[in-house]
Amino acid sequence: MSERADSAANHGFSSLSLRPELLQVLTELGYSQPTPIQTQAIPAILAGQDIMAGAQTGSGKTAAFALPILHKLTEPLLRLDEKNEQQPEAPSCSQVSGIRALVLTPTRELALQVHGSFVKYAKQTQLKSALVYGGVSIDAQAQILAAGVDILVATPGRLLDHLRRGSMSLSELEFLVFDEADRMLDMGFKDEIDAIVKQLPKTRQTLLFSATFDDSIYGLSQSLLRDPKRIEVGERNAAAVEIEQRVYAVDSDRKLALITHLIESGKLQQVLIFSRKKVAADKLAANLTKAGIGAQAFHGDLSQGAREKVLQSFKDGEVRVLVATDVAARGIDIIDLNYVVNYELPYKAEDYVHRIGRTGRAGNKGVAITLLCREDEHLLEEVEVVLDKRLPQQWLAGFEPDLTKSVDTPRKGGRNAHKQRAKKRANGGRRGR
Ligand code: AMP
Repeated sequence: MSERADSAANHGFSSLSLRPELLQVLTELGYSQPTPIQTQAIPAILAGQDIMAGAQTGSGKTAAFALPILHKLTEPLLRLDEKNEQQPEAPSCSQVSGIRALVLTPTRELALQVHGSFVKYAKQTQLKSALVYGGVSIDAQAQILAAGVDILVATPGRLLDHLRRGSMSLSELEFLVFDEADRMLDMGFKDEIDAIVKQLPKTRQTLLFSATFDDSIYGLSQSLLRDPKRIEVGERNAAAVEIEQRVYAVDSDRKLALITHLIESGKLQQVLIFSRKKVAADKLAANLTKAGIGAQAFHGDLSQGAREKVLQSFKDGEVRVLVATDVAARGIDIIDLNYVVNYELPYKAEDYVHRIGRTGRAGNKGVAITLLCREDEHLLEEVEVVLDKRLPQQWLAGFEPDLTKSVDTPRKGGRNAHKQRAKKRANGGRRGR
């Protein structure tokens, strides 16, 4: 047995029938066991099925689709070689011209991250991957596409620009992946998706990944997937179990003092704080910095270059706190991120699931802290409906809310929460299908 095959045989992934070349890369990366989504999705994709998977960021979903796609994209070479009755040393390059796999992502950060994963996993193959997203020169991307690409990771708007310019053809596409499909629809990409899909061959394998499911996702899946295998790891819309969720009740004007205290007293490093608005993110980052805690804002007003720089200094530990808005934070992948803070709860309860999915990734323990002022109590109620569990509130000594203060409680009683609860009851406890 060769050294390569030997390392594959001892691998937790070996029962999934992936090529030794891919297994070897996984060993090098220190992936010893497949995550639950990988265990379920990889054999189904290898068997040629469409899939619709409920998987959150942090579940290992990127490898769940990237590995079987890479496995299958390197197949033609083996078939060609069967004639010679000699197995090739390693699957090397694609024998087919044109883009064969397309991954659509809602944001450029996620596109960068997914592309990075493909590059990592495809190290031992000669498959070429490329990345296209908006906000940077389209000509440079067109040149890369013209040179020939097997795998393309793209955001929908920019991909459509390229298709309109004729920079590439998708007529030979074999695999279409929607990553974070829910967010893509939330961000209003439905028309772009429809326009892109019109240009794809009907015979293809389509894989849809989404952290949350609602009627619009089911609608999309019905028009795009063929008899998909449904995969759900854990409770749908539920936060990963490794995440400890804490809710501190606090007056809104004491939040800064409380978060400063929590970071300093807990000696917290690498804290991702969510704020609802860009202006608030800027202000909070400035206030934390003033209080001696290195912080940077991370939102859509920053140029692509500035975002990458900020993210890198956060990853490198030069910046202790990142204050991000929901859209900007999609796709942030930091393995050791242990703390996520909801400085304000999101208006959309599903965003809570996305936010806290930034921590506790691939089995690491994470803590999600919510600072809850009374004005936002109805939002917590909506989060509890989505999670289908109560999140008990606690008071921290010295930061107790002043209950004598009168507060504005918009949409008192969580009208939306009641509506969702009623729908859930009607569906026997589950939303949608
Ligand atoms: P994802 O959910 O695809 O964003 O992946 C989350 C993180 O888990 C990434 O940093 C991956 O590199 C890592 N990861 C994926 N699969 C595994 C695995 N089987 N073992 C260890 N880490 C993994």
